[in-house]
Amino acid sequence: MSTLLEMSGVSVSFDGFKAINNLSFQIAEPEMRAIIGPNGAGKTTFMDIITGKTKPDEGRVIFGEKSISLLGMSESKIAKVGVGRKFQKPTVFEAQTVRENFALALKNPRGPFDVLRHRKTKNGAQRIEELAERVGLIDELPRLSGELSHGQKQWLEIGMLLAQSPRLLLVDEPAAGMTPAEREKTTDILVNAAKTHAVVVVEHDMEFVRRLNCKVTVLNEGSVLAEGTLDHVTQNPEVIDVYLGR
Ligand code: ADP
Repeated sequence: MSTLLEMSGVSVSFDGFKAINNLSFQIAEPEMRAIIGPNGAGKTTFMDIITGKTKPDEGRVIFGEKSISLLGMSESKIAKVGVGRKFQKPTVFEAQTVRENFALALKNPRGPFDVLRHRKTKNGAQRIEELAERVGLIDELPRLSGELSHGQKQWLEIGMLLAQSPRLLLVDEPAAGMTPAEREKTTDILVNAAKTHAVVVVEHDMEFVRRLNCKVTVLNEGSVLAEGTLDHVTQNPEVIDVYLGR
């Protein structure tokens, strides 16, 4: 297990307001990490910085064993080096089947190396079945994506992200709007992905975070307030103050 992403001393201001304030963060590969924090803590901005959507005013963001800087790279270049992001709302091609959605994601790999690797090792149909198996959609392959449940659409999108061979997956509130059974399955899919990938999950639902059973980073006012197991951070008086708004 080695460090995949390292941020240090990162700050961003919007009109003089420090949304991210001297933030340092590290994640290994593979690793599962949950990010929690009250509204306005900087969670979205934190992910925007990693994906290149927001450029920090100061600090370093270093990725991979060659320690490449993500700063100054375009969003598409950052996606190509291996950062995948899943937004809260599922965005799948509803008029296409599940199989076609996976096929589209596989046609859009993150770099020329992947195209060669996929061609050499496995054909598309095999890859699609593996991905569908990984996200529990093997029986849904012929169905139109628009007919899937909310949870199934989320899993399809996670599978499409995995198709692009990211090394770091950023997942925003995956459990929102899901039934308890869907939440449980989502936990399994993410825990499984974190056996081979670095996975960052931003989530408000503490029961969901508990089931991820991973290190938790608490953000507040753009900085890391606490880090550790969920039990450890939720017993921290500063974290309790922030959540109870005292
Ligand atoms: P979270 O996702 O934890 O709710 P955000 O990262 O969305 O927090 O926001 C952190 C702070 O930065 C908030 O106070 C928010 O209002 C502010 N902020 C975020 N993006 C912008 C922007 N583009 N312009 C101005 N302020 C912003």
